[in-house]
Amino acid sequence: MAYDTGILFREDSYLKEINATVLAINDRGGIVTDQTVFYATSGGQPGDTGVFVRDSGSTVNIAATITGETKEEIIHIPAADQPSVTVGETLMLRIDWDRRYKLMRMHTACHLLSVVCPFPITGAAVSEDDSRVDFDLPDAGVTKEDITRKMMELVEANHPIFTRWITDEELAANPGLIKSKNVRPPSGTGRIRLVCIGENASVDSQPCGGTHVATTGEVGTIHIGKIEKKGKENRRFRIRFGALPEGV
Ligand SMILES: [Zn+2]
Repeated sequence: MAYDTGILFREDSYLKEINATVLAINDRGGIVTDQTVFYATSGGQPGDTGVFVRDSGSTVNIAATITGETKEEIIHIPAADQPSVTVGETLMLRIDWDRRYKLMRMHTACHLLSVVCPFPITGAAVSEDDSRVDFDLPDAGVTKEDITRKMMELVEANHPIFTRWITDEELAANPGLIKSKNVRPPSGTGRIRLVCIGENASVDSQPCGGTHVATTGEVGTIHIGKIEKKGKENRRFRIRFGALPEGV
């Protein structure tokens, strides 16, 4: 059976820890709790790592977080040789916040890139110090200096970022919201989470289940490290933290 985990990062991506009760342990040792702040790998964003603190004070290191049979079931994967927990046990779940915050900044930077590069997205992957977004774009016709400058204008404008939920019908009536060429947002659950940038979503809105920072300013200084050709029709943009190196 699939469990429904209370997924707290959807409403507040800044929650670092929460108390939870163990609902189940699967045959590979994965731990399901009644609620969690751990993001599960999805949509190009890696799942959280962190630690579970037991009442005794001993800890269980969590190496990965994934979804189970449904997107509502979240499974925490302990690192090797950790103590086992028991069903019904209460734990304090704490994510590796430094890592998650970098992932939130990087993931948000991917949204900014999709605003300044309004082409269909064919793939994306976020990591702690580097992210990539692939566009269906036969001829780049843009430079990393131009794209970096436009992304930094959005960062410096410090636009608010917020989420709102819409219905499947509202999404069907606004097909322009979907930027991914191959990946359709999950529909059929009745509601879709939109990530909006700017007052009244004036800069952007798109379906996304990931974690983001609250303002574009929090992304900080970023640059396009590389624009690579990936096959005839694709260009891969790499985003990195820090300023564009001079004279490269
Ligand atoms: Zn997102």
